[in-house]
Amino acid sequence: MRWSQAHVPTLREDPAEAEAVSHRLLVRAGYVRQLTAGHYSLLPLAVRVRAKIIDVVRSEMDAVGGQEMLLPALHPAEPWRRSGRWELMGQEMFRLRDRRGAELALGMTHEEIFATVARELGSYRSLPQRWYQFQTKFRDEPRPKGGLMRTREFTMKDAYSFDIDRAGLDASFAAFHGAYTRIFERLGLPVLAVEASSGTVGGSDSVEFMCPAEAGEDRVAHSPACGYAANIERATSKLPEVTDAPGPPAPEPFDTPGVRTIDDLATGHGAPADRQIKTLVYVLDERPALVLLRGDHPLNEQKLVDATGATAVRAAAAEEIRGWLGALPGSLGAVGVTDLPVIADEALRGRRDMFTGANRDDVHLRGVDVERDIRVGAWADLREVAEGEPCPRCGEPLRILRAIEVGRIVKLGDRYARALGAEVPDADGRQVPLVMGSYGIGVERAMAAIVEIHHDDRGVVWPLAVAPYQVVIVVAQTDDEATARAGEALYRDLLAAGVETIIDDRPERAGVKFRDAELTGIPCRVTVGRRGLAEGAADVTRRSTGESEKVALDEVVGHIRRLLG
Ligand code: ATP
Ligand code: MG
Repeated sequence: MRWSQAHVPTLREDPAEAEAVSHRLLVRAGYVRQLTAGHYSLLPLAVRVRAKIIDVVRSEMDAVGGQEMLLPALHPAEPWRRSGRWELMGQEMFRLRDRRGAELALGMTHEEIFATVARELGSYRSLPQRWYQFQTKFRDEPRPKGGLMRTREFTMKDAYSFDIDRAGLDASFAAFHGAYTRIFERLGLPVLAVEASSGTVGGSDSVEFMCPAEAGEDRVAHSPACGYAANIERATSKLPEVTDAPGPPAPEPFDTPGVRTIDDLATGHGAPADRQIKTLVYVLDERPALVLLRGDHPLNEQKLVDATGATAVRAAAAEEIRGWLGALPGSLGAVGVTDLPVIADEALRGRRDMFTGANRDDVHLRGVDVERDIRVGAWADLREVAEGEPCPRCGEPLRILRAIEVGRIVKLGDRYARALGAEVPDADGRQVPLVMGSYGIGVERAMAAIVEIHHDDRGVVWPLAVAPYQVVIVVAQTDDEATARAGEALYRDLLAAGVETIIDDRPERAGVKFRDAELTGIPCRVTVGRRGLAEGAADVTRRSTGESEKVALDEVVGHIRRLLG
């Protein structure tokens, strides 16, 4: 490619709206342009990187027996209704009608649609089947952000496994786990495989591949000592055992004028936060419920979703709460409450002599015995772990890292196959539903994550495996005929040797070309200039280290091939 012909609209300044490094650099280096929030045009360099990522992913999918398919992006409502996700997906699903009034959706994932294809699997003997595709997904994300990191339209490599039983699924899951480990290694993405909540897709084991980075939207609890890693939505910690004195035979009310917070009660009334019961009011699928935690423990809402199976979860408004409990937040409690379900965090089990609100403004209770005085309908792990708490496995302090979820694998079980009628006869001739797994990687999010990891203050520093070009030839003086000729000769030789090369033949100052070469992140730069030519040499510079070497013109191709490995 000739830079003079290429559409690489690099910018001198950082785009104002971009926060994440990858967003800023991909815009500035001429890779992407925003059409509207959450929708990006990929320009030629980005398309090349995307293709490289896809090649890596495809080769590892094929290596575990994957068969590539391509299913529609536009779906009829029916399969989604069958699985129950037509409703569940709510506002995240883009919906439309055709000219006959039939309801359709833009595919946000493909479990249902792949299950329709699996209906034709005739026998357990053809299993396992492992199918994948690269297909555009559409999701009406509430907050598209971070450039390519969270968009409303993106390419996913989604894969699905079909097995006859759980043991088969376990083997498929392990195979994909291994493939993902190799994919992210080849893409230059350091990842932690973390335990995760399975979210709207359902299922049992769910592992997310998390790339630690400040720009990430997820948080991961990690113990460097033993390797424990879990999404904050799932993570637990080992709390020190507490033994309480029994306390009084019944809760005792006391006046707490003006007390509104855990802190107020702690400082004004000698009730340490870890001796308080925090009472939150939530609306779970339109029904109110009390959620109890220790005073110093924050709620993780996803844990509440997972524990209750509710699909719509929101904190109740103060006025609703007054209607249900007769008091405002600040004086709430569950003692004596029988008409609302109560869900309590495990850390409250067995606690006695505790403090909580009395459901009367400005009154609290002391001496509360959780199991004696509160009708707890369900116990669950609801609290969010904090930095420094002991790891549940090894007891060493947990670290909380920000991370980008670049991929996810889930054991689905037979839920989708049952709903969609994807069954095969087993060895005894009985029809059994297929046991499925689901495996996703966001291609453009991976691209953004690579930039988050591989950049410096001059621009992107692509790992070789995904770079848009391997080599850029900078012709320092295009108006000097001998220099231009030498550049062209190198260009021909590198192309002939199969090296992906772009030649910067623009009539620009060398400084501009160097800047663009660095900004765009091409791994090797060959500079052909008048001064070097006088000695029959060119400069070969590596983007990652900045090291330059003078190399004789007729050795450049061999030298580059060695660098590229
Ligand atoms: P998130 O929690 O970030 O919303 P998700 O759990 O919805 O992700 P999955 O449904 O498991 O994601 O999708 C598989 C992969 O697709 C993710 O691991 C991620 O790499 C990518 N992905 C998901 N949503 C987006 C998005 N809005 N933009 C870009 N990539 C995405
Ligand atoms: Mg999502």
